Amino acid sequence: MSSEYGKLYVVATPIGNLADISFRAIETLKQADLIAAEDTRHVRMLLQHYGITNKLVSLHQHNEDKASAGLLEKLRSGLSIALVSDAGTPLLSDPGLPLVKLIKEAGLDVVPIPGACALIAALSVAGLPVTQFSFEGFSPRSASARKAFFLEKLTQPTTWVFYESSHRILDSLKDMAEVLPLDRQLVIARELTKLHETIVKAPLGAALALVESSDNMRKGEFVVIVEGAIIDKKDQLITPEQEKLLSVLLEECSIKTAVDMAVKITGARKKILYQAALEMAQGKQD
Ligand code: SAM
Repeated sequence: MSSEYGKLYVVATPIGNLADISFRAIETLKQADLIAAEDTRHVRMLLQHYGITNKLVSLHQHNEDKASAGLLEKLRSGLSIALVSDAGTPLLSDPGLPLVKLIKEAGLDVVPIPGACALIAALSVAGLPVTQFSFEGFSPRSASARKAFFLEKLTQPTTWVFYESSHRILDSLKDMAEVLPLDRQLVIARELTKLHETIVKAPLGAALALVESSDNMRKGEFVVIVEGAIIDKKDQLITPEQEKLLSVLLEECSIKTAVDMAVKITGARKKILYQAALEMAQGKQD
């Protein structure tokens, strides 16, 4: 990359506790010619705290496309730009994607300056498996869309995480309780790194009761982490004996009758035997 062009630095800022910022982030913000911020007033307070006085420009979801084109020109003229959001890591449920895309497509450098991120902070203390997880952003706003979302997640075997606001945390948990088993483990991480930080790990039923009964548990910012569905592998597999029996029965009767009889004889789960019977019948046709 030609050094005559400026670089875009994507800088993580604190999610509450102002000490949660890296030396490199502060240095980058001090050195940048421009700081593109979601809410310039909010970020000005943060910058003042560190004695940073660089020029702020606004980049929010309503002006992102237009402002990004202007910022690309600034980079081409050799200025360096730091992108920050109101809290945490830009682009994670925050503005910045159009800018980062545009700058990369133009072949200029985009440099990450990592730091706080609410979902990662919450996952690090959840005590749930995090080797694989999915981040879902904010849960949908309407009850029907939320229930559909929870239904979609019902059988996901890995941990999933979403952001939630104080206005919707209770409704969201109520909707979840209509769809997910009440013993599913949940972690509610509230006001992370702030004075009223609360991290609750409980089964869904108990977590809902707590949020329903405590006004404080409905205040602030939330990350909700949900344990993946526990699938008993034994229940998902058909044994060789069951398979043999099913294949003999399928020679003589319909899929439905063969499956019903196999369930009665073996006591295996109907869904598993039915799936296997369908596959056997399909295999014969192929
Ligand atoms: N980019 C940010 C990040 O890196 O985490 C997230 C920005 S998103 C607009 C704001 C949401 O993140 C909040 O509504 C809440 O769900 C979550 N969040 C941010 N700060 C938090 C905190 N201190 N404690 C718990 N959740 C937080």
